[in-house]
Amino acid sequence: MKRAPSHRAAFSFDIEDWHHSELNPVGDVRPEESIVVRGTEAILELLAKHGWRSTFFVLGDVVREHPDLIRRMVREGHELACHGMSHRPVWRATPESFRAELREFRAAVTSVLGDFPVIGFRAPTFSIDRSNAWALDVLVAEGYRYDSSIFPMKVKMYGTPGAPVGIYRPSRADLRRHDADAALVEFPVAIAELQRVRFPVGGGFYLRALPLFVFRAGLDFILRHRPFVLYLHPRELAPEKRRMPLDPVNGFITYVNLHTVIAKLEHLFERYEWTTMRDILASEGWLEG
Ligand SMILES: [Zn+2]
Repeated sequence: MKRAPSHRAAFSFDIEDWHHSELNPVGDVRPEESIVVRGTEAILELLAKHGWRSTFFVLGDVVREHPDLIRRMVREGHELACHGMSHRPVWRATPESFRAELREFRAAVTSVLGDFPVIGFRAPTFSIDRSNAWALDVLVAEGYRYDSSIFPMKVKMYGTPGAPVGIYRPSRADLRRHDADAALVEFPVAIAELQRVRFPVGGGFYLRALPLFVFRAGLDFILRHRPFVLYLHPRELAPEKRRMPLDPVNGFITYVNLHTVIAKLEHLFERYEWTTMRDILASEGWLEG
């Protein structure tokens, strides 16, 4: 198979269970319905088959409940990053409670792996925007070097329209501006920009909903200009037995074309060269100093 231009791309996985979805209206979560192990193992197997490493934004609750899964992830060379403790959006946190949550995460990781470097953060539901830019200060103070929570367009639940689509250092005064002196680097998920119009392509929904040739054209287009990062969830590789009772729009977003994910991933893993977000940031000089 012919490879696309030899730029590197990153795949990231938000390691949470199906019931952590912000859309979940179901209160009674039963342990036997968990898909987090099954889904993450499917991801790890696919990555191993193709020889790629990727970045895993893991919930602290998952670190605690599935230590063997975390050990395997790290042993196989993947990057462990933070997705908060239990999927509470940062909009509902205060600087103090957010700091406490990051420390709780760090403690959970230490109890499984010992002293282990975690430098990347992605907020549940991309919940860092202009209303809570203080979160960046807390991340820096807690030792994080990069963030992937600022979604540079407005979609239904989140977004910071006007923020850069490439890697940058968000200004604390205005997240849409680059500040060369800012300590934290932002690596936003993939958005294609054509004639100033932005199309999100980074998430599982776009991978599932778009025909592969359209999705691939979007990625090829981005790669001519910069690296990109995509994201998926374990539930997208190991669908839950019980489906959440959602309205038609959210049901479509959550469940469309789940059966196409593995074949599409196989194709993308053949077509592009993949590595961790940390590797891309380091090789492009964003983590110096
Ligand atoms: Zn999440």
